[in-house]
Amino acid sequence: MNNKIWLSSPHMGGKEQEFVKEAFDTNWVAPLGPNVDGLEKDLEAFTGAKHAAALSSGTSAIHLALIMLGVKAGDYVLCQSFTFSASANPIAYQGATPVFIDSEKDTWNMSPEYLEKAIIELISKDQKPKAIIPVHLYGVPAKMDEIMAIVAKYDIPVIEDAAEALGSTLNGKACGTYGQLGVLSFNGNKIITTSGGGALISDNEDYITRSRFLATQARDNAPHYQHSHIGYNYRMSNITAGIGRGQMLVLNDRVAQRRFNFEFYKKAFAGYVGISFVEELPGAFANRWLTCILVDSNLTNGKTREDIRIALEKENIECRPLWKPMHLQPIFADAPFYGDGTAEKLFKDGLCLPSGSNLTEKDLNRVVEAIKLVLN
Ligand SMILES: *Cc1c(COP(=O)(O)O)cnc(C)c1O
Repeated sequence: MNNKIWLSSPHMGGKEQEFVKEAFDTNWVAPLGPNVDGLEKDLEAFTGAKHAAALSSGTSAIHLALIMLGVKAGDYVLCQSFTFSASANPIAYQGATPVFIDSEKDTWNMSPEYLEKAIIELISKDQKPKAIIPVHLYGVPAKMDEIMAIVAKYDIPVIEDAAEALGSTLNGKACGTYGQLGVLSFNGNKIITTSGGGALISDNEDYITRSRFLATQARDNAPHYQHSHIGYNYRMSNITAGIGRGQMLVLNDRVAQRRFNFEFYKKAFAGYVGISFVEELPGAFANRWLTCILVDSNLTNGKTREDIRIALEKENIECRPLWKPMHLQPIFADAPFYGDGTAEKLFKDGLCLPSGSNLTEKDLNRVVEAIKLVLN
């Protein structure tokens, strides 16, 4: 059997262990410490956000962002349907109701058209949304210019889920810095990883200061344990932050490698009309976290996404259908949805290909050949 080709596996740069060793040598084996402060500085410098809080996960960052915007039971939050469940689950943690918005075809992200439809209808029912969560899925920038123009009309704050989009920019501005708050993830399969972790970024210092406070059990300033708020244990540890500092040193290389993967696949399937990719719009720069293909079985002699997925699995190549939209998930079956079936169709026809920055050209060729064997 050929060796396994993973969808997106961790790729250390070499310096991570030095930061972790320093934490051991100085006995900062604790939550918080110099590596946490250092990673926050690195993230601020890289994204251009004025403030960053390193947290235990991207999910906890979304949860704290909702709390910062005052989202509570009975509120409505608009969320991109085509995403990972972690974008939407924190809405439920707060007892609020998610309202799901379909994708548009250019970027696969939140449709500005259905976003505005939903806002107008909810306002007419006296259910004005408290927040909006667009996502930069697979690292492809959403249409933030249009989205920000719409929310400005109705004065609704934005939490940008940039968990998959560290290194992506739109008109030179980092994904995650368009909204009031931005969310990053360093989970094991993301473009860089701390084995697990995330961050909340914002230009609003108060949001970040209060998030750090809530993320460390909301301890009031007193010699004893005194609490005036419900707290959370959401801070990143100084050990994992050390991995993060090492990873930040190679982030630009990782983006370049993932973009190389995308170009490699695109060139390989240039002659195949039934295989298509999501392109960058003018002004957009995608980190190409995962390269995804759409399979149009009308143009592949009937060969479907599933035919390809199963063939790759047999070749010991990990691949995955695109995210199943939230409005089709059993847990969110009752949530309102605005759209026309775009995300549903992407889910039906789409496949994520192996996209790790540690893949060799030999690996990429193995993937391409296995797919061509199905198509030819
Ligand atoms: C990974 C991911 C998250 C959650 O991040 P974690 O660090 O795994 O909690 C949120 N949204 C999207 C779109 C993601 O891909």
